[in-house]
Amino acid sequence: MSIRFKVILPYLLLTLIVAVTGVYVVTSLVSNSLQERLTNQLLEAGRMVSDDFARQEISHIETARIVAYTTGLAEALEAGDRAGLAGLAQPLASGLDIESLSVIDRQGVESFYLVKLADGNYFVPGVPSGLEAMPIVQSLLLADNAQAAPRRALVYNAVIKKYYYYSALPIELNNRLAGVVLVGTSFDTIMPYLKSTSLADVILYDESGRAIATTLAGQSTDESFLTAFSISEDEYREVVESKGNIAGENFELESRWYSLARSPLQVGGDRLGAFAVILPLDFVLQPGAVSRNNYIFLFTGAMFGVIVIGYVISRLLINPIYALVRASQAITAGDLTRRTGVNSSDEIGVLANTFDAMTANLQQRTFELERANQTLAQMDKTKSSFIQVAAHELRTPLTLLSGYTQLLDNKAKNNPDLQTISKGLLEGSVRMQEVVNSMLDISRIDSKMLKALPDKASLASILQRVEKTFQAAWDERKLKFVTAGISELPLIYADPDLLYKLLYHLVMNAIKYTPDGGTITLRGEVIEDDHEISLTVEDTGIGIDLEHQHLIFEKFYQTGEVQLHSSGRTKFKGGGPGLGLAIARGIVEAHGGRIWVESPGYNEETLPGSCFYVRLPLEAKRVA
Ligand code: ADP
Repeated sequence: MSIRFKVILPYLLLTLIVAVTGVYVVTSLVSNSLQERLTNQLLEAGRMVSDDFARQEISHIETARIVAYTTGLAEALEAGDRAGLAGLAQPLASGLDIESLSVIDRQGVESFYLVKLADGNYFVPGVPSGLEAMPIVQSLLLADNAQAAPRRALVYNAVIKKYYYYSALPIELNNRLAGVVLVGTSFDTIMPYLKSTSLADVILYDESGRAIATTLAGQSTDESFLTAFSISEDEYREVVESKGNIAGENFELESRWYSLARSPLQVGGDRLGAFAVILPLDFVLQPGAVSRNNYIFLFTGAMFGVIVIGYVISRLLINPIYALVRASQAITAGDLTRRTGVNSSDEIGVLANTFDAMTANLQQRTFELERANQTLAQMDKTKSSFIQVAAHELRTPLTLLSGYTQLLDNKAKNNPDLQTISKGLLEGSVRMQEVVNSMLDISRIDSKMLKALPDKASLASILQRVEKTFQAAWDERKLKFVTAGISELPLIYADPDLLYKLLYHLVMNAIKYTPDGGTITLRGEVIEDDHEISLTVEDTGIGIDLEHQHLIFEKFYQTGEVQLHSSGRTKFKGGGPGLGLAIARGIVEAHGGRIWVESPGYNEETLPGSCFYVRLPLEAKRVA
């Protein structure tokens, strides 16, 4: 995953989580506060309904008192003078705007009854109302106390088939109970009043939980409509036992949702039943939905804003990193002129500037190295040409010199003094010839002119030649020369003279760097898997430091102090021009092989020894 996504993805996720949580929290806060407002409103409406009933009760009691204390009314009632009673009560009813008036004597017989009709006229029904049977009337009669407190109840008036709210008051005559007066107001009057004061719809329940009136759907008194709103006795009990409001279930009516709360209906000491106040949910649901949509819209907009800002920030942050990556790739591919091009002053800018400075340094160093390399190559070329020129120039005089020395040696046979001189001259010229030959070999190798002239070659016979060459050294230095596996080697297709030179230099070095009495071992074997021939020249000499091991194959490279070298050719630590191993490597490479050395290190005391490895390809060049 690219770094851009690694930065943007968590940022996006976080923004999304914050946005969703934000919308959720804000909308739920709003809907909670709306719900709270609704609950408060229901509470307030319930209080209004209770207050309305209390007011109605006060008005009933005042009216009933006026009736009860009207002069002559109690006497007429006591005397059973119905006409007199009616004469007093009827004007009172219309004067006090009483909707239902009933006067009952102390025997419990209704002596006067009157109701106001819907058209506003009063009507005295011929049939008794049956109101005297009401428990509140019976209890007042039974108490037989003229001072007893008024009672009240919600009652269905069977004569005019309407519910009424009745208040009952004792009538007194000479400190005795003369009867009971009942003042009632119909629900037709009460219900619209409740609705107008509480600003809510109302349902009234009787004491069994049955809905008996409602302002819903235009004060419907339709039985089945009302039954739908009735509650079970358990629910009713729960309501009356509660102190305040009990939230009811929400319901839908004519595609509008309502919320409802029920309270007990209590006036004075009498429980009349219960009531419910109802408010439409619109003002909770609609603003809730509107505010939720607003917030979703707002947060979505904010999120897009945040994403755009995030993208811009990530670009600002990541582009310099990309520039760094591209620059480092170009530099790895070799373009040291490439720079990041980042100019900011922040941490990435500092990193890019440091990187650019590093690249500039590297470019400068590389340039210097290239120059030094060119100089070295030029010097090496000059050295090679010098060796070539010197070797060629020395060869002719040297041939002359050795010819004359030979002549001198022949002539000095009978003169011992002269013979010593001629012997010394002869040895010196042979040594010089060897050096010049080595110089010629090296210049051929340098100019890639050294060509192997392959022929059937027997390593065993080449080795015999080498052994013979150094015969004097073996005896003089008491060195042991051991061979292993050489006679079993097959003939190989290689240049016998070059192979002789190769072994000559390796054995010569082994002799030079092994103290007297040491052993030089030459092993040979065929490595079938690699199709190669392996030759190793191992000695018990002074060994080679690890740091020199890869350098000794360069021409003129010598370890140790040159002037300390003893001058003898095969003497211990005898001197040499530093060309032997360079020639050996040139010969091996001319045959397509490899050469390397292994030694634990240099030590003249412990004599760790050295082992030179040569691998020559066999498969293509093997001769049957
Ligand atoms: P030189 O003419 O000095 O022998 P060479 O190229 O043959 O030059 O060898 C280079 C150097 O490698 C020698 O000076 C010597 O220090 C080291 N060297 C070569 N062969 C051996 C060996 N068998 N043991 C220890 N040192 C060796």
